[in-house]
Amino acid sequence: MNSYNVAIVGAGPGGIFAAYELKKQKPELSVVVIEKGSALHRRKCPIDGVKIKSCINCPSCSIMNGFGGAGAFSDGKYNITNEFGGDLYKYVGADEAIELMEYVDAINVENGGAESRLFASERLDIAKLCLQNDLHLLKAKVRHLGTDINYIVLENLYNQLKDQVDFVFNTEVQTIEREGERFVLTCPKEQFTADKVIISTGRSGSKWMESICQSLSIPTESSRIDIGVRVEVPYDIFSDMTDALYESKIVYR
Ligand SMILES: Cc1cc2nc3c(=O)[nH]c(=O)nc-3n(C[C@H](O)[C@H](O)[C@H](O)COP(=O)(O)OP(=O)(O)OC[C@H]3O[C@@H](n4cnc5c(N)ncnc54)[C@H](O)[C@@H]3O)c2cc1C
Repeated sequence: MNSYNVAIVGAGPGGIFAAYELKKQKPELSVVVIEKGSALHRRKCPIDGVKIKSCINCPSCSIMNGFGGAGAFSDGKYNITNEFGGDLYKYVGADEAIELMEYVDAINVENGGAESRLFASERLDIAKLCLQNDLHLLKAKVRHLGTDINYIVLENLYNQLKDQVDFVFNTEVQTIEREGERFVLTCPKEQFTADKVIISTGRSGSKWMESICQSLSIPTESSRIDIGVRVEVPYDIFSDMTDALYESKIVYR
C-alpha cells in the first residue's frame, strides 16, 4: 500500500496550489496528488472534426479533467476580487482573501506569466449609471494570462512540483475511509493511505465529494454559483461601455 502524510484528490488549481504550499511550508511531508484525468501534455479531446465530430463520452473528459483542472485550456483570466467567483472571504476575512489571491497571482507571474498584464475595471461614472438602473457594477483586478501562457504556467508548476510530489494520473479515487488515525483511499487498481486528505475535486467531483463527506460524517454546504451570460451585439452599440471597462486600465506591478 502507498503511504503518505498527505493525499490530495484532484489536480486542478485547488490541488496544485495545495501541493505547492504544503511543500513550501513543510518540505519534509510526503504528498501524493491523485487525479482521474491525464497529465497536461496527454490531455487531448478526440474530436477532430473528421473521424470524430462530436463528444463520445470518454470515461474521463480531457477538457474538464487532468492536470490543471477544468480551466486548463481556458483564457486564463484570474479575477482578484471578493465580489464574485467564490466566498473565501467568509472564512478568512476580506483583506486576507485578497492577499491570498495576490499571492497566487505572484506565483503565476513567477512561473511564466510575467509578460501578461493586470487590468482593473473600475469606473465611478459607469457604476453610478448602473445603480440608477438597479444594476451593480462589480469591481475586480484581472490578470489575463491568455490560453498559451496559462498552459506554460501550468507546465512550469508541474515541472517544479514533480520531483517533490508524487502525481498519480488516470486514477479515480472511489472511496475514502477512516482506519484508526489514518485514511484509506481506494482507487480501481490500488489503495493509498494518508494522515490527512485534501479533497479538491471541483465542480465535476462535487457530488462525489458530498457523498464522501456524508460517509465520514463531515457536514457540507452548497456555495454560490456565478453564471456568466455572454450577449453579443455589434461593436458600436456597447463600445462606450466596453472601451471603458474591458481591459482598459492597466495596473502595472
Ligand atoms: C471552459 C472553462 C473556462 C474557464 N475559464 C476561467 C477563467 O478564465 N478564469 C477563472 O478564474 N476560472 C475559469 N474557469 C473556472 C475554473 O476553471 C475553475 O474555477 C477551477 O478550475 C476550479 O479549480 P478546482 O481545483 O477547484 O477544480 P477543477 O479545476 O475542476 O479540478 C478538479 C480536478 O479533480 C479531478 N477529480 C474529480 N473527481 C475526482 C476523483 N474522484 N478522483 C480523482 N480526481 C478527481 C478532476 O479530474 C479535476 O481535474 C473556467 C472553467 C471552464 C470549464
